[in-house]
Amino acid sequence: MKRYLLAPGPTQVSPEVLLAMAQPILHHRAPEFVTLLDRVKKDLQWIYQTQNDVLILVSSGTGGMEGSVSNFFSPGDKVLTVNGGKFGERWTKLCTAYGVNAEEIKVEWGHAVNPSQIQAALEKDPTIKGVFTTASETSTGVAHPIREIGEIVKGYPNCLMIVDAVSALGVFDIRTDEWGIDIMVTGSQKALALPPGLAFVSVSNKAWGQADKAKNAKFYFNFKKERDALSKNQTAFTSAVSLVVGLDQSLKMMKEEGLQNVFARCGKLALATREAMKGLGLNLFPKNCPSDSVTAIEAPEGYDGQQIYKDLRVKYGITAAGGQDQLKGKVFRIANMGYIDTFDVIIAVSAIEMVLKGMGHPLKLGTGVGIAQEILLKK
Ligand SMILES: *Cc1c(COP(=O)(O)O)cnc(C)c1O
Repeated sequence: MKRYLLAPGPTQVSPEVLLAMAQPILHHRAPEFVTLLDRVKKDLQWIYQTQNDVLILVSSGTGGMEGSVSNFFSPGDKVLTVNGGKFGERWTKLCTAYGVNAEEIKVEWGHAVNPSQIQAALEKDPTIKGVFTTASETSTGVAHPIREIGEIVKGYPNCLMIVDAVSALGVFDIRTDEWGIDIMVTGSQKALALPPGLAFVSVSNKAWGQADKAKNAKFYFNFKKERDALSKNQTAFTSAVSLVVGLDQSLKMMKEEGLQNVFARCGKLALATREAMKGLGLNLFPKNCPSDSVTAIEAPEGYDGQQIYKDLRVKYGITAAGGQDQLKGKVFRIANMGYIDTFDVIIAVSAIEMVLKGMGHPLKLGTGVGIAQEILLKK
């Protein structure tokens, strides 16, 4: 059976990147690798839209998130976490693990946070040292208003704005410097279209200032040590050299396409997916602010979302995603990020139609595909 990977991470990897990574191993202290890192670190600044350092860590995205807590905060520090899904919740858990006192702004799943709640919390307690957010909450398919939150946090010189952009950076516009984002994390296996294994973290000068005072223990994810190594185009420990070679190729391809064109492509694919689902009479899970990274779709009344996701895989070879926690059985999810194009959407939409029809759900085959095609035809 032919396989199609349409999950919200890991995502598909292009043949160009796969071939680049198949080259003989470079030594991580070899001059070739130093030259490569010099290029890659600048390209990362390009995609992050920043002049800040962008650290390259060997871990999945969560390692970058963990370091973003341990390097900048001390036990007892008070922070805000925005929790509207699995990944927002992860910030709370990480802070708790490091003794950081996280006050949660609970957001109903499927909704974006209202920035005025953050404003109110910061006004009430000016000792808050950080606001932890998620740009695209992969578990619910919602995009939170990062720009607006950034504008608020900018007004607090002792408070850092931290963004989990693991499923957002390289999908839609996030302007690190302009929007005042102090720390932003992403990972290799989402929009950057690489295998899992690398995490990236941008760090502002404001955040480095706070790092000097942070008392939490750290060793492998020591960001100041990584910053010093990066200034010499090195990493502190052995780099995942093949992944960095792949990253160089992936960023090169994105630069050739152009950042705005990447955003426009993902935006159009996501729009086509959403409209096709609505045309089939299905509900999108997000109640406002759907993310272009991932489309979360409610299973029709009386049908099991896990079964839809399983049928996609077992009958048609398509790996999508089901729902997590409280959404298990209620939703299924399709990615619109990374190495993805027009016919990935057509495959997804037509397979969803076939799976639902096969389960006995009444629909006219081709309805969603036709709607998607109309949108994808437009320039
Ligand atoms: C995938 C993802 C992560 C990181 O998960 P890892 O499994 O550690 O790579 C973090 N946040 C969001 C929003 C994600 O989608």
